[in-house]
Amino acid sequence: MWNFETDPDFQRKLDWITHFVREEIEPLDYLFPKDETYNTRNEALMTIMAPLKQQVRAQGLWACHLPPALGGGGWGQLELALMNEILGRSFFAPTIFGTAAPDTGNAEILAHFGNPAQKARFLQPLLDGDIVSCFSMTEPQGGADPNVFTCRAEQDGKGWVLRGEKWFASNARWAEFLIVMAVTDTTVPIHRGASMFIVPTNTPGVRTIRNAGMAFEQPEHGAHAYLAFDDVRLTDADLLGQPGEAFKIAQTRLGGGRVHHAMRTVGLARRAFEAVCERAQSRQTQGTLLAQKQMVQDTIAELWLSIEQFRLLVLQTAWKIDRYQDYNRVRGDIAAAKILSERVMVEAASKAIHLHGALGVSNEMLFGEWLLWGHALGLADGPTEVHKITLAKQLLRASPAAVDGFPSQHVPAGAARAARKYAAALQLPGHRRGWVGTGSD
Ligand SMILES: Cc1cc2nc3c(=O)[nH]c(=O)nc-3n(C[C@H](O)[C@H](O)[C@H](O)COP(=O)(O)OP(=O)(O)OC[C@H]3O[C@@H](n4cnc5c(N)ncnc54)[C@H](O)[C@@H]3O)c2cc1C
Repeated sequence: MWNFETDPDFQRKLDWITHFVREEIEPLDYLFPKDETYNTRNEALMTIMAPLKQQVRAQGLWACHLPPALGGGGWGQLELALMNEILGRSFFAPTIFGTAAPDTGNAEILAHFGNPAQKARFLQPLLDGDIVSCFSMTEPQGGADPNVFTCRAEQDGKGWVLRGEKWFASNARWAEFLIVMAVTDTTVPIHRGASMFIVPTNTPGVRTIRNAGMAFEQPEHGAHAYLAFDDVRLTDADLLGQPGEAFKIAQTRLGGGRVHHAMRTVGLARRAFEAVCERAQSRQTQGTLLAQKQMVQDTIAELWLSIEQFRLLVLQTAWKIDRYQDYNRVRGDIAAAKILSERVMVEAASKAIHLHGALGVSNEMLFGEWLLWGHALGLADGPTEVHKITLAKQLLRASPAAVDGFPSQHVPAGAARAARKYAAALQLPGHRRGWVGTGSD
């Protein structure tokens, strides 16, 4: 059954979210840099956000991705997609709705793999939005290839000793704890030899070398930590899950996380599209509005096509996750949504910049930040190339090789098969033989 309609009750929720995000949350984009959303020490921002979070809770819209047992709405991915595409308009909205990455993914793995003590200490305050967390996997010498990871945790009879470096650990400077992937067994491939540890950020030996910022950010605003672990002492109680389970744990968080990023990207790309259309309707040049110039019309049509095709793919992916309840089965779809997130966001932000002329590239619009974010979407959680490999492998698995030297759609053999199937009709007057009978089949 195909159906593109939204249930009226659910539509009312979406309408409330749309109004709330536009009126109450988008103003924050003009006041604070986007990564400040995690800065729990920014009292002005926290003071503004606290009552907004309360309103979200009062509507029953807090952390809708979580099951009710964890205080969430237990929504399916399709419902989340329709909500997230509204939240994606502002970098502050996910935090105010309790759905901000990386905390959502970290909460998910704590709920799945955490022991009761870990859940009480870390999961509950995270779910309540009282603290923020960090997921630290990437290392300076390589992110996309875990085989080069060297950050190690070794047992010394008294517990574990963590040594090494991590790179681009988002929000570590404000996080209460880090979830760190470390090599614990060098005798097996890393996919079986790495473990996950929960490391409170104030543990002795956790050192911030510096906080890298996004391009154009002042160094003091950087939110992506370059971390060193100088003989950090840990115990078995700090292990998340079992030794050797790091990749299994990472996969649990990444499937949902990637598709939620894609859902939000639809929203931000649509916001850029609105800016493009408004500009086209407002700016006169050489006697007409930009909207009346065919090349601008082409831009608008092409951008709309890109965004709406992307949106349909994201919605279909969400539907498949709900339908099959199996992330492995939809890995290729999620990879496709991730690939398009970068492409569509870069296109939308670039067009917004271009149509606004000098104003577009200036620091008086948000488009530059959005463009850079588009590129970040092609790197965070793995570069586009790696997701293309995933997609292609899944597509190829469904496609066997040709049984003999010729393709299965080779015309002479296909014509011979078809001629046998429709032999009686082919005897009728008026038919010209064509390929029939010349094939090897
Ligand atoms: C905004 C942002 C936030 C992030 N937050 C976190 C975080 O919180 N925690 C964390 O651990 N990491 C985080 N990362 C790091 C992210 O996971 C890595 O950037 C990503 O895995 C790529 O690793 P890399 O940067 O080392 O690039 P590399 O692995 O060096 O790749 C560089 C380029 O090489 C090419 N390439 C790589 N592999 C292949 C391949 N197999 N085939 C063809 N070409 C290839 C691609 O063009 C790729 O972009 C974040 C990144 C960004 C941009």
